[in-house]
Amino acid sequence: MGSTGRFKRSLGRLWGAGRAFAPPDRSRTGSVLVYHAVGPGEGPAIPEERFRAHLRLITEQCRTDWPETGFPGDPTDAPRVRVTFDDGYRDNLTVALPLLSEYRVPATLFIATGRIGPTPEACPDGVYRGRRMLSRDDVRRLADGGVRIGSHTHAHRRLPELSVAEVRSDLQASQEALRSALGEAARELAYPWGGAADLRPDAALLLAEAGFAAGWTTLHGHVGRDSDLFRAPRIVVEPEDTSEDLWAKIQGEWDYLTWAARAKGAWGAWKVGRERRG
Ligand SMILES: [Zn+2]
Repeated sequence: MGSTGRFKRSLGRLWGAGRAFAPPDRSRTGSVLVYHAVGPGEGPAIPEERFRAHLRLITEQCRTDWPETGFPGDPTDAPRVRVTFDDGYRDNLTVALPLLSEYRVPATLFIATGRIGPTPEACPDGVYRGRRMLSRDDVRRLADGGVRIGSHTHAHRRLPELSVAEVRSDLQASQEALRSALGEAARELAYPWGGAADLRPDAALLLAEAGFAAGWTTLHGHVGRDSDLFRAPRIVVEPEDTSEDLWAKIQGEWDYLTWAARAKGAWGAWKVGRERRG
């Protein structure tokens, strides 16, 4: 891990220590974890044994029941956790699925359908370049294995860079690909990259039009009754996160990231307002 990771971790410990004096936050009803690749191969991936340790922690300390649509309504004593994977790497089938089945942890895969071919092709670009992606048959096998399948768009482009017409046709293409592979369209989507700069204000409208009932970001946070269904927060799990780190994130020790992002947003809005005014 680099020094940024160590710095973030120390901040998390401090925030967690401060939070211990605050009353428990009853507005949080669940944590949605984001994984990418698992096991050996090109690009950053969580080692298989570490992923196993995470699943052991989830089974022992958390609940994994989650409603079919929307967010859990009530907070629980054991934190409620949902496991998701973005992109559609082949190791999600070969490495992750057997472990998920062994520990009986339900999972959702958000698949960039444009990267799914008749055979498992290598990822063409980005940090995971060279890693094999799922094939259409693989996606079917995952669904048969009880994994929920969602969309990660078709072309994995940054949505704000596309025109409304381009977003519409991308979402339609993704739903068609899933319908032809699985017989039904997806109900949920995870935005490519999913950071504040990767979201667009008309996303809820465009997603709903394409048949989606939820849009997941990578904005750090827990879900609650008041969360925005089309700007839903998740918690990104890094390949170097130990079980202790994962537990800290689930417990809210990394929540200063939410406040940091909000403060950054407010600061940006204030600056823009001031520039406009001035
Ligand atoms: Zn992605």
